[in-house]
Amino acid sequence: MDFKVFFSHSIAHVQIRGIIRVEQKLIMELEKEVLYKACVLTSHGDDLTDETRRLKLSELGADEVLIRTKAAGVCHTDVHFWHGNYQVGKTKDQVVSFSERGISLPRVPGHEIAGEVYAVGTQAMKESRLTIGDRVLVYPWAGCGKCALCEAGNPHMCSVSGQDLGLIRDGGFSEFVRVPNHRYVFKLPDVVSYEMGALLPCGALTAYSAVKKLRPVVEEIAQVQKLEVTVGVIGLGGVGQWSLKLLQCVYKDKPIRVIGIDISQAKIDHVLKQGLVQSTFLLDVDKEQTDEFLAKFDNQRFHCVMDFVNTTETFRFATSLLSSSGLLVCVGLHGGLGEIQLPFLVLGCITITGMYTGSLTSMKELLDIVTSCSLGPPTITHYPLHEATKALQDLEKGKVMGRGILTF
Ligand SMILES: [Zn+2]
Ligand SMILES: [Zn+2]
Repeated sequence: MDFKVFFSHSIAHVQIRGIIRVEQKLIMELEKEVLYKACVLTSHGDDLTDETRRLKLSELGADEVLIRTKAAGVCHTDVHFWHGNYQVGKTKDQVVSFSERGISLPRVPGHEIAGEVYAVGTQAMKESRLTIGDRVLVYPWAGCGKCALCEAGNPHMCSVSGQDLGLIRDGGFSEFVRVPNHRYVFKLPDVVSYEMGALLPCGALTAYSAVKKLRPVVEEIAQVQKLEVTVGVIGLGGVGQWSLKLLQCVYKDKPIRVIGIDISQAKIDHVLKQGLVQSTFLLDVDKEQTDEFLAKFDNQRFHCVMDFVNTTETFRFATSLLSSSGLLVCVGLHGGLGEIQLPFLVLGCITITGMYTGSLTSMKELLDIVTSCSLGPPTITHYPLHEATKALQDLEKGKVMGRGILTF
């Protein structure tokens, strides 16, 4: 008999080796159910519906971890999911739908999740150091766990069967979330709040991956050419603000001039007031502003641009202002079609790349950086769970300063 039982919060977790002898009390515990509220998307574009759901703890898979949600971020990806598509052409009817990507409804949205460990499957209990009650964040970009990309710590790029929470599996607009494997659950340092933790695996991780991507150019310009590195940041919402904080932290010993760019003067004023940028530029997407920009900045072009909006207009603006050997990291998913004069791509040795969330390694690094640099979250707007639809509407209309968070 080798039998370990973990009791906490009246829930039993069982690890059984050898001969199994199940006690009556244990059966009763595993028969326990959690009843919980979830906001469910049943039809694209419609309001989310409130549902009461039921989960028997005995149904929890061996590899799974059950999280009691404490904070869930509301992200532009949720807005795209709500509508059911991404724009990929010049007009709003040129779209690719989520159903074409094999994503079906009904689904609980929400991939920015932090909470408390409530129950742990038997295999997950063996392989992890998770304990009931641990404060954790959930890395939502789960993969098959078996392919080469997953093996290399890049489940967000899984080529076999992604299991993204809030898209392919039920996500964080819910009082409880089932996470498919413990490797996607990261303990939160004491100094990191649930709200902050929820935002880290999406907005902050995406921003961090983009900021990391700049390193070869930053080092070339700063160390080899001995010049100040000009970095443009387009889009000063939640993810853009993360990138500004991370730039200061990751490249604190490098001479960097950050130019914050947005169509909103209020957002520009906000980052200026926080001291996150050295210069700013107010974008007008209906105007050709290349000459205006060059006049304002003494013909200085960008060594790097991170575009957290990524529309036809911002792509044109960014590529028209890149220096030779410049780097454009496209991050936003607002969508559209980008055009570039191909000879200039070659003659300028321009690099244009995309960045989607980040690896498990980057997630670990980000947690260390957030702690060592004492980074706080962006401005947060709170919504109760039942106002999830309003949170999506406000985000779509650009009414959310910083980041929207559902509270529980
Ligand atoms: Zn997100
Ligand atoms: Zn995989």
